Amino acid sequence: MANVMTPKLPRQILATSDPETLATEILRALKYRVGKDMTVATPYDWLTASIKVVRDRIIDQWISSTKETYEQREKRVYYLSLEFLIGRLMRDAFANIGLLDDMRVALKSLGVDIDVIAGLEPDAALGNGGLGRLAACFMESMATVNVPAHGYGIRYANGMFRQEISDGWQVEFPEDWLDHGNPWEFERRERSFEVGFGGHVESVTSKDGRLERHVWKPVERILAVAYDTPVVGWRGARVNTLRLWSSMAIDPLQLDAFNAGDHIGALRDSNKAEALSRVLYPADANPAGQELRLRQEYFFTTASLQDIVQRHLSQFGELLSLPDQAAIHLNDTHPAIAVAELMRLFMDVHGVDFDKAWDATKRTFAYTNHTLLPEALESWPVPLFERLLPRHMQIIYAINAQVLLEARSNGHFNDEQIRSISLIQEGGERRVRMGNLAFVGSHSVNGVSALHTELMEQTVFADLNKLYPNRINNKTNGITPRRWLFQCNPGLTGIVREAIGDKFLDDVEKLKGLDKFAGDAAFREKFAAVKRANKERLAGFVSGRLGVKVDPSALFDIQIKRIHEYKRQLLNIIEAVALYDQIRSHPERDWLPRVKFFGGKAAPSYHNAKLIIKLANDVAKVINRDPAVRGLLKVVFVPNYNVSLAELMMPAADLSEQISTAGMEASGTGNMKFALNGALTIGTLDGANVEIKEHVGDDNIFIFGLTADQVEERRAGGYDPRAVIESSPELSQALAAISSGVFSPDDPQRYRSLIDGLYQSDWFMVAADFDAYAATQRSVDKVWRDSPDWHARAIRNVARMGWFSSDRTIRQYATEIWNAIP
Ligand SMILES: *Cc1c(COP(=O)(O)O)cnc(C)c1O
Repeated sequence: MANVMTPKLPRQILATSDPETLATEILRALKYRVGKDMTVATPYDWLTASIKVVRDRIIDQWISSTKETYEQREKRVYYLSLEFLIGRLMRDAFANIGLLDDMRVALKSLGVDIDVIAGLEPDAALGNGGLGRLAACFMESMATVNVPAHGYGIRYANGMFRQEISDGWQVEFPEDWLDHGNPWEFERRERSFEVGFGGHVESVTSKDGRLERHVWKPVERILAVAYDTPVVGWRGARVNTLRLWSSMAIDPLQLDAFNAGDHIGALRDSNKAEALSRVLYPADANPAGQELRLRQEYFFTTASLQDIVQRHLSQFGELLSLPDQAAIHLNDTHPAIAVAELMRLFMDVHGVDFDKAWDATKRTFAYTNHTLLPEALESWPVPLFERLLPRHMQIIYAINAQVLLEARSNGHFNDEQIRSISLIQEGGERRVRMGNLAFVGSHSVNGVSALHTELMEQTVFADLNKLYPNRINNKTNGITPRRWLFQCNPGLTGIVREAIGDKFLDDVEKLKGLDKFAGDAAFREKFAAVKRANKERLAGFVSGRLGVKVDPSALFDIQIKRIHEYKRQLLNIIEAVALYDQIRSHPERDWLPRVKFFGGKAAPSYHNAKLIIKLANDVAKVINRDPAVRGLLKVVFVPNYNVSLAELMMPAADLSEQISTAGMEASGTGNMKFALNGALTIGTLDGANVEIKEHVGDDNIFIFGLTADQVEERRAGGYDPRAVIESSPELSQALAAISSGVFSPDDPQRYRSLIDGLYQSDWFMVAADFDAYAATQRSVDKVWRDSPDWHARAIRNVARMGWFSSDRTIRQYATEIWNAIP
């Protein structure tokens, strides 16, 4: 993109940012900050030096943003998230501050290609998937729409695992994103807080024997140390802070032990403390029944709250005005312990009584729910909770007593409803329900798409919603158009600018102006050429990386997202097998060349998800090699799906697969990225697909399958998958082929149990939706053959997706939840 943003850049940056000045500064940074000269500098050194030069300019903005917030007493937003799926930062930050082009020229004058060093920047994978990526998009949008904000999370030394595919199986390796250092971050040793675990609670009484307060005496104590990364908004007007906590021992080297000769023992505490922030536990398959996970959650929550309280006290001198000056947002229940922790800080540390503390707590917090899957709703065994956080357990009991009293005195709740409202799950193992804790401790509880919010009101939080009406609200997710259009798809951005001008760069809803170009043959051709170039880029990557040749003129059909049964990669694979069968049995028909791409990680303990990855690879091996297919169908599994890979694949997609069992995907954001880049969606009426359909129009999306209500009805009404399978010859044949080992001759039984599962219960309704899915794929073929029509529909998708910008989402959060109006 040429220098469109320049005129709006802050003056002090403009003054010092011509390419010659930048080149001089890069050399200086190389020398004085990296300690190298040009002749010995590695590409990593150039990367570091370039980032340092731009970071200096960002810091000027950062300091002025912070100062203004302080002086104007602006309300601050604190976004607590166990995950931030950031990806690479360089291109994003350079472009947002308006220096991408000048840095390109400056580096070129030094013989360095910016695209080469940009490709070396590690992809910060501090998240599992959508939830973590949402947090990253929100950080960028908050800086863009001028909301003063801090993101708080964990600086995982190894993050999410790196996936390799070996013989078709997923193998996990530690991600080494910090190996070359992280030139973006600032270590803030002075900003460190103690985190306690275990121990007991003491009561302090006054002279006349009255209970004054409780004091928690933890037995284990570690430190949380802050690392700050500046987050630049579009056009650099505001810079916010992402503060990630790293754990370390308070006393890293126990010198007594060391001097006594126990060199290993002297470091034991240090290793144990540091282990806490080492890896992100990939928790989306199984209840994260791991003590380490609970420790991580408390660790980053207490450090963040102590930080927030300290900042507030130093500016305002008292704590009860916290809700007026701070909005603390809980991204899912992972930081829900914050409710009890803030109560503890109020009562035990600052001497506030329960009622006042409870009122202020509720006015401070807001909570976003991200899933209705029962196995993903966090709860912790009471004995574990009590052992690790004894004071918080007491506080939760006190809150629960208050809530249950309100429910009983309300008079409209029977015993079963009271049980569902309780923060403690009784019957069997007693557990603390983190969703209920987050709900009662917040003034706002939001879902992430219209459908999800509605289901939330009807299911998990039905009774809490009755007790506290109007607390639930919807905020449909969004994505940042900077990364997901301008950065990842410069070709498309360029032709859109030529067509409708630059206004959409500042307000993506202005993309609407593109709508009329759907009927413009010349524009359609440009659009097709851009898509083609993006597909060639992906084809080149796949050929270089995997040795698989794909034809860029084929339809690129892409499903990339975490591997999970509810997302139904299996449905897509079975359809590939059925199609393969058809191509072989009807070679005379005019088959459409198609490449099915898959990518995504499976949680390491999720057996079926890992088996589905293996199946995709086994099917790929057979189909891609079969001469009878004549290259008409290819299947490709692209390893290690992450943000950078998404940036490569989204712009190259013709067809976006969003085929989850209706009612199970809270929103999806992958669906938005694809459509914004001009892919047509094939999908169910699930999550945000429903709203995408409303925006792009029924003719510009392929919808199939059971609705959420119908899924519910079928499940309730004794769904018989066997009967469904037997009535569909295509499906039966495909399943028989998989089950009998056609794709796994080395282990014919490999998929027996997976397929038997479909016959026996098919919880995810793969069989029920199969025929509709396959038929819809054939109508996709039909539209694809009429290329102008296809491209017109694709252009309408781009034109109508502006509403799904995370800027819109953040404005809604800011005005309707945080009361922090930009
Ligand atoms: C957008 C994104 C996701 C979320 O994808 P869904 O299809 O919404 O599940 C996951 N991982 C990465 C790397 C992403 O960029």
